[in-house]
Amino acid sequence: MTITLGSLRIDPVTELDHWPFAAAELFPGVTPEQLGEHRGDLDLSITTYLVRTPDQTVLLDAGNGNAKERPVLLAHHQFDTPYLDRLAAVGVMPEDVDVVVATHLHPDHCGGFTQLVDGSWDPTFPRARYLIPAEEYGWLQEVHAAAPDGGAAADLARTFEDSVLPVVEAGLAELIDLPYEVTDGITLRALPGHTAAHLIAELSGGGQHALASGDVLHHPFQFADLTLAQGGDSDPAAAAESRRTLCELAVERDALLLPAHFGAGRIERDGDGFRYRPGSSGGA
Ligand SMILES: [Zn+2]
Repeated sequence: MTITLGSLRIDPVTELDHWPFAAAELFPGVTPEQLGEHRGDLDLSITTYLVRTPDQTVLLDAGNGNAKERPVLLAHHQFDTPYLDRLAAVGVMPEDVDVVVATHLHPDHCGGFTQLVDGSWDPTFPRARYLIPAEEYGWLQEVHAAAPDGGAAADLARTFEDSVLPVVEAGLAELIDLPYEVTDGITLRALPGHTAAHLIAELSGGGQHALASGDVLHHPFQFADLTLAQGGDSDPAAAAESRRTLCELAVERDALLLPAHFGAGRIERDGDGFRYRPGSSGGA
């Protein structure tokens, strides 16, 4: 499903089609009313977005990556997916990628920065500039420096070691401040709350817009109650504000939403709130 915005070509590249989570695990405060018709596990995906401009190939989120040791965050543990084959299927080899941006430095977004080659973690995209907000980098560096000996923090420290540090040591990382213009039609903007410097990518071309929104929202039922926090939100109040900002922005621009964990769609006003219309057609 290629999406075209003027001279921008966007291809969703899915790492994992089905990623089950118990609703109460993902949203500790969720009520049966909020869940509505959703029964059983929530079925998420892991989707990244490859954006090609006339002169740049930009990967928005890099997925979880294979073979990562995540003994605490077991949902992220030891993937073995054909993600790079899927990238090749849309015509892109790792060495073709000019820029890699993760919406944030959680393992399912930046783990794919590196791959295991002969026992060492090498940058997956050997020519790319890896753009990382300095604030986000500082946060994960501190988690790592505290040398946590257990809990989710231990897996975040592993993420820093096996996925982020290797691209820094290879001289491929650029620490940036937001907002940041990657190239014509692609601007990164801070929408914090899920993490300290979570970002979205604003994509524009030919008068049309899309927003790659990472983990600002994790599931479409959050549109009915933007205050519903995801368990991993580091600052729930800021995350709720960012969800509202994203919805307002998407409606204002009639932008296609490109989330990391559910399908593309459009946000519509619904009274004082919003609702979601899945699908990538209509305007883009
Ligand atoms: Zn995520």
